[in-house]
Amino acid sequence: MSSSSLERENQELKRTLRLMIGKAERNEAILSSFFEVELRLLSCSRLAELLDLILIEFKEFFRLSNVNLILFDPEHAARSLLDDYIPPQPGNTLRFVQSQRLLKSIYPNNKMIVGTPSEALSREAFPVSESQVQSCALLPLIRQNCLIGSLHLGSNDVSRYTEHVRYDYIQHLSSVISVCIENCINQENLHRLSSIDMLTKVLNRRSFEQEIVRELSRGSRGGYPLTCLFLDLDHFKTVNDTYGHQTGDRVLRTVGLFLNKQLRKTDIVARYGGEEFAVLLPNCGHSQGMEIAETLRTKLSRLIFRDEESKPFRMTTSIGISLCEPARYPSTKLDDIGYKLIQAADKGVYQSKHNGRNQISFIKFPQIKENPAQEA
Ligand code: GH3
Ligand code: MG
Ligand code: MG
Repeated sequence: MSSSSLERENQELKRTLRLMIGKAERNEAILSSFFEVELRLLSCSRLAELLDLILIEFKEFFRLSNVNLILFDPEHAARSLLDDYIPPQPGNTLRFVQSQRLLKSIYPNNKMIVGTPSEALSREAFPVSESQVQSCALLPLIRQNCLIGSLHLGSNDVSRYTEHVRYDYIQHLSSVISVCIENCINQENLHRLSSIDMLTKVLNRRSFEQEIVRELSRGSRGGYPLTCLFLDLDHFKTVNDTYGHQTGDRVLRTVGLFLNKQLRKTDIVARYGGEEFAVLLPNCGHSQGMEIAETLRTKLSRLIFRDEESKPFRMTTSIGISLCEPARYPSTKLDDIGYKLIQAADKGVYQSKHNGRNQISFIKFPQIKENPAQEA
């Protein structure tokens, strides 16, 4: 072999090597960014956060024209966690189905579908697509052999997803996503169960006591007051005795719903005990707090309840109110301050009862000495 042809071969080999190294580096970069996506998926603890990651960020990250998701949600377990969730525009990127019929028709063999979708499949998978999806990967989301959803990745590029290429990674990703969706729903529901009063669906006493510390800490940092209301339904025992326990339960549910509707999203409503509700009004001073308490008292006294035979009746409420002025409280004292604030509002209830019920009593909260030095 001549030296010039050896030289050429050498050049050719070097070029191939450079190409291979380039390809390996690109693959490594893709793999590491895939790992990063996987870690982010696994670190989501809220369903809304996970959905944003899948529906918004995936689109950018994988340079897709469409990302759509269908979730099998027969008992509204997912939907109930997403009251305030707004899916990205254009809408319909997220759908819930109560039966598995649609999912089973897309995946008769539980296998992912790759390639150019038929018109019918495209309508099903990308119902509000602005332009025709040229190629797609439809991934069944499976947990314990059960189809729990379907993730649709769509591209304007016809060669992006083709039948002859293996897509092991996105298949793996769909398994991770399935686990993450199931985990988020379970975790959030478990948290809800432990923090919500099952009868009235407002927070329970334990959560209220945690919230008061959180709000005191926020108020202490932000320099704003915290008002606490205690509401005790008047002669509630008589309601049970007259109309029955079931009607009593309905009254409690209505009051919980009413309080949640009346107050701001940032206010905290809890059932503190049997027929006692507690409310926290962050960043709310004395006159505003009194005004809110008065509105609640009046509106509650005008609510019309009905017994099992639809016979109407009304209820009144005694309210206690107390207020923690803004100050820099040491974090070690917040539990104690919270307890004293509750105690003061509760004392207000007793005073209202004593003075004839259906009224509000304000109890001055003993000013706690500021001691930021202890904070360290
Ligand atoms: P007052 O005006 O002094 O507050 O009188 P009251 O009858 O409201 O207060 P009391 O403490 O004597 O009675 C509270 C009643 O609340 C007694 C209890 O059976 C009832 N209660 C507590 N929890 C529930 C509940 O979950 N459902 C129903 N239906 N009743 C409840
Ligand atoms: Mg009571
Ligand atoms: Mg009562």
